[in-house]
Amino acid sequence: MSDVSGLRDEAVGLLSALIRFDTTNPPGNELECARFLADWLTERGLSAEVIESGAGRGNVTALVPGDEKKKPLLILGHLDVVPAGDLTKWRRDPFGGEIAEGCVWGRGAIDCKGVVAAQAVALAELTRIGNEGERPVRFLATADEEVGGKAGIGWILQNRPELADCWASITEGGGEVYIMGQRRFASFMVGEKGQLRLRFTIQGTQGHAAVPLNDQAMYVLGEVLRRLEKLEPEYRVIPSNRELLDQVLSGSGLERKYTRRLERGDGRAWSKFLNLAGGMAVRMPQIVRAIYTDTLSPTMVEGSDKINVIPGEVILNCDCRLLPGSEPEDKLAKIKKLVADLPVEVTVENAHSASISSLDHPVVETVRRLLPEWEDGLELLPTICLGGTDSRQLRWAGYEAYGYVPFPSEPNLKDMPSRVHGVDERLELEIVGEITRRTLDLVRELRRR
Ligand SMILES: [Zn+2]
Repeated sequence: MSDVSGLRDEAVGLLSALIRFDTTNPPGNELECARFLADWLTERGLSAEVIESGAGRGNVTALVPGDEKKKPLLILGHLDVVPAGDLTKWRRDPFGGEIAEGCVWGRGAIDCKGVVAAQAVALAELTRIGNEGERPVRFLATADEEVGGKAGIGWILQNRPELADCWASITEGGGEVYIMGQRRFASFMVGEKGQLRLRFTIQGTQGHAAVPLNDQAMYVLGEVLRRLEKLEPEYRVIPSNRELLDQVLSGSGLERKYTRRLERGDGRAWSKFLNLAGGMAVRMPQIVRAIYTDTLSPTMVEGSDKINVIPGEVILNCDCRLLPGSEPEDKLAKIKKLVADLPVEVTVENAHSASISSLDHPVVETVRRLLPEWEDGLELLPTICLGGTDSRQLRWAGYEAYGYVPFPSEPNLKDMPSRVHGVDERLELEIVGEITRRTLDLVRELRRR
């Protein structure tokens, strides 16, 4: 069944079936989906196991055996999905798994059941092929990725660490193809930004709305927000974002003029670069900016719960993402200083540093080598993931973890950001087939390393 259309049909069928399990997280409820997937793998000769990590929570693991002296390659995906949101906006049932208009439709089609289906079919095919003398391959489809992985990869690392023990892992997060002029680049995630969730508690005097007071917490909130908005971005060039900069500059012929200025953090050079890179490559200057700076987004506000009561306290929450080398405590100190003269207390809700894997690993080298074999002229572009995936926890546990799904460059999913976590999530059948074929190829190559 090695032919492309056979692999595609099998992966499409599996993906459609996985989507029909509503694994919206919270609460997750991945267990039934996990049982189904484990049976599917077992029927195809893999030794699969369902790992229960809580009531209704299920993870699946399976092993393609090999040379036991070698640590396994970990192929990782997740079974939970984000909520479908406003159902009336969807053109098709988000949990229908419909195959229509050349696509498989539903929540999770891309993130991450499409990836899981491609991985599972590739591993089933690998089992059929055999080759026990090569590196073993461990498959893991986790619960709970979308809300931080406590009942998923975190639970496994704590309670069944042998299932995550690996030579290196590959999961979602990269693979989107950026087109710059005549050149095409497959993004490859070598790290993830850190996170700092802040709570600003703003004090004022509570009172009757009919008698406006002078020290209202709401107006202090306005001042806090103005100062946060005016925070100058500090651009930094680091190994995990260096190559994008070099490629964009060389593609535009501007490298001699701009490289030094960008490295120095020159704001005018950066705004020119962001527009250039946003237009050429990654579609939005804002995405490029987030690759080169720490970010801060105010997201939640709590004030009075009555319209006629002036609140004595207002709470503002902000979500910050930090580049490697930017530590949460330094960022916190900077922000505290910014509002030091105001009646505001800044506290940390949650924080962790960025995580990063080696750029110099056989996984990186192998993907770099395979890309032009899959598609003439396709090149690797190492970069950093702006959001979060299960990779982070694997890196904390000491493993090399990479985010890469072998998407073809055509059809180019320009609307990927609105499909993933948005409405009308769907994946083209030919893409399902192609990522399955390339995943199989990649895993076969890596088994020999
Ligand atoms: Zn995901």
